[in-house]
Amino acid sequence: MPTQSREIRLASRPQGEPGLDNFVFATVTVPDPKPGEVLVRNVCMSVDPYMRGRMNEGKSYVPSFEIGKAMEGGAVGRVIASRDEKMPAGTFVQSIYGWREAFVAPASSLQIVDTSLAPPSAYLGILGVTGLTAWVGLFRIAGLKGGETVFISGGAGAVGSAACQLAKMHGCRVIASAGSEDKVAYLRNQLKVDYAFNYRDGEPLDNLKKGAPAGLSVYFDNTGGPQLEAALYALANYGRVVLCGGIAGYNRPVPGPRNLMLAIGKRLRLEGFIVSDHFKELPAFLSEAVRALKAGTLTSRETFVEGLDAAPAALLDILRSGAGNIGKMVVKLSE
Ligand code: NAP
Repeated sequence: MPTQSREIRLASRPQGEPGLDNFVFATVTVPDPKPGEVLVRNVCMSVDPYMRGRMNEGKSYVPSFEIGKAMEGGAVGRVIASRDEKMPAGTFVQSIYGWREAFVAPASSLQIVDTSLAPPSAYLGILGVTGLTAWVGLFRIAGLKGGETVFISGGAGAVGSAACQLAKMHGCRVIASAGSEDKVAYLRNQLKVDYAFNYRDGEPLDNLKKGAPAGLSVYFDNTGGPQLEAALYALANYGRVVLCGGIAGYNRPVPGPRNLMLAIGKRLRLEGFIVSDHFKELPAFLSEAVRALKAGTLTSRETFVEGLDAAPAALLDILRSGAGNIGKMVVKLSE
């Protein structure tokens, strides 16, 4: 009996904020695996802010989604039929074949994940690209050191919550922002950051002055926009800015910071990065993260939505200021 899989395709390119009509569902028959291939049923999949950029036409560091074709993204699934002895049925694997229920692929294009260490969804979040992004940004790009003061915008999100915890583990003073009172309470009470504020309530700069009276050593920027401008004012001389993401401008470009000139007088360093350039760091990151997860000093927080039908709305949600997710947004697909 051939395997059927529902998948989500890009129906049209959004202008500004995307809507549910930019996505369309289809059902395909998945072929049986050939030698060296496996058939995988996805257990969970990721929705990520960078996917908004892939809905646009044009050149970027990842190719655009094609209209009428299945979208792609991180997923963890279980092998249900195998023609590769290294990946028998039952193996959990990580792939880029999200946005669908099942697929066939060469075993060599998939990575085995160890579900005895953490549940499958953790490999989309704290033990996956998300955690690695936080770690690379803090320690490889900014060179953050114990005792320094770091401001992390988007602090209650997937990358931000990992960054807050890693910076605390390394003995730093952590200032973090988020867009709702629930998220600020999570930052204060669960992640135990030193100062948390709602960037939609009052001026970010007033909060940064309160949270870091002596100035910031590092700003981990997940948002761009007004928080980047505030951070430039609040950075101490020789401060560093890690340009990780600019979600405030993903649906509509936002003007650049009006005070960029401060970078000269304060001798600031601003550096962007793309995590895929740093995949070789994964073992170094995991050796620290797995130990900390077992010890309970690092925690994995997820917001789950159920079923493939919920995936488009979950993506729209993470692109909204103050909306839904705390920690990593994960779409559950099957047990
Ligand atoms: P996330 O933080 O879990 O989800 C996105 C969050 O962004 C939302 O929950 C929302 O939180 C916030 N947001 C939405 N619109 C906003 C706006 N207009 N202004 C300010 N905040 C807004 O997503 P993530 O996966 O962890 O990604 C965080 C950032 O890292 C993104 O910018 C992403 O593109 C970037 N990133 C970069 C790399 C890299 O290689 N450089 C890799 C992964 C991710 P609030 O309720 O707090 O507003």
